[in-house]
Amino acid sequence: MSSAVVTRFAPSPTGYLHIGGARTALFNWLYARRFGGRMLLRIEDTDRERSTQGAIDAILDGMRWLGLDWDGDVIYQYARAARHREVAESLLASGNAYHCYATPEELAAMREAARAEGRPMRYDGRWRDRDLAEAPAGIKPVIRLRAPTDGETVVDDGVQGRVTWQNRDLDDLVLLRSDGNPTYMLAVVVDDHDMGVTHVIRGDDHLTNAARQSQIYQALGWDVPTMAHIPLIHGSDGAKLSKRHGALGVDAYRDLGYLPAALRNYLVRLGWSHGDQEVFSTGEMISAFDLKSIGRSPARFDFAKLENLNGLYIRNSQDTALVDAIETVLPTIGAERGLAAPLPPDLRAKLTSAMPGLKERAKTLVELIDSAYYLYAPRPLALDEKALGLLSNEARARLAAILPVLEALPEWSPAATEGAVRHFAEGAALKLGQVAQPLRAALTGRTTSPPLFDVMAVLGRDESLARLRDQAQST
Ligand code: GLU
Repeated sequence: MSSAVVTRFAPSPTGYLHIGGARTALFNWLYARRFGGRMLLRIEDTDRERSTQGAIDAILDGMRWLGLDWDGDVIYQYARAARHREVAESLLASGNAYHCYATPEELAAMREAARAEGRPMRYDGRWRDRDLAEAPAGIKPVIRLRAPTDGETVVDDGVQGRVTWQNRDLDDLVLLRSDGNPTYMLAVVVDDHDMGVTHVIRGDDHLTNAARQSQIYQALGWDVPTMAHIPLIHGSDGAKLSKRHGALGVDAYRDLGYLPAALRNYLVRLGWSHGDQEVFSTGEMISAFDLKSIGRSPARFDFAKLENLNGLYIRNSQDTALVDAIETVLPTIGAERGLAAPLPPDLRAKLTSAMPGLKERAKTLVELIDSAYYLYAPRPLALDEKALGLLSNEARARLAAILPVLEALPEWSPAATEGAVRHFAEGAALKLGQVAQPLRAALTGRTTSPPLFDVMAVLGRDESLARLRDQAQST
């Protein structure tokens, strides 16, 4: 048998791909890539009531957007139900499982007794050794695992270390429901085994399941894969992650203007570290990733850190790549800005040439689009409040006075417009800012922008002069 690493991401399609799931997927992806192995994707859709096609699509889209490609076809757990039943039957045949006819009332009574004694519910094994001749007529049984009653179950976890359970605390779990459907516990074991999974990397909310799953593996005589249970992500205040903290779907991060590479970089550091390195290229992440350096305490989600990292990735991105990235978010945020994908070629060209100035200051693509407002704003520009405040009558008169100077320029370049504006300011005994600020307000609708003469060059002569005429006012 080949010993190549096989990992898997196994989401339940009951909602979007949330940030914790994305991190689990990333860790599985990195581990597989690090060891030249494969990462498989299994959609755990056995819960027919709660699984939806919309959630499946959101998970696949989210993974594609994050650049987490899986190997082979997507595996759907529900499609494998016959195989799960077959394995349950084989456990019955080998004596490692049995039919249980306990009624809902009996189980409720066990639950009640456990509650009264302040201990977790434990099935009392009443059908474990009972003669099936006593089976009540007309009742469909469940199939339960005949779990060991003494000794220990041990999980040598790649993150949590050696974790031990007393078998007397683990009851005989249900493998197959009375309607013939497998439980999650059985389906996961059978699928991981059949898919050749060597490493199970998932949230530590599954740690107790690992003990129960180990018992199923043992009953089947199968090797238990290496387990690695990652601490969950908490909010910045240490509480369990909620929407308020950033527990959003990956699609929401896309729409907020985060770059997939930046989000990946942020997620890899949520719970995993490599010295004090914060910024990783994909190649660096892959070659440094291991299970040993995953911490044992919950990582805290920090929006400000994500923003800063995203700003860094924006600054380091190619200009054309940023224009492409802007285009991908236009379907969600473009409408309110009067923009749609695909970008018209002339706007694309303007955005590309303005990008070196724009990308210096933006932390998200949304900020980038907003700071590029002057490039796509329809005339007359909607001035923001500060710009409006700046354009006093006096300032508007200055615009009127400089217009003919600019109109007469033989050449429209940053050097030419700068020379003309400086010369005009000197001649009128004004500081450069007293002319430049009204120009900026009229040309961009804002009081901050990339360097003014670059703005004029990108807008071009006709558009620049038209915007100045819109705001100029002769006295
Ligand atoms: N489907 C489970 C979940 O989404 C994960 C199961 C597993 O990784 O074993 O929580």
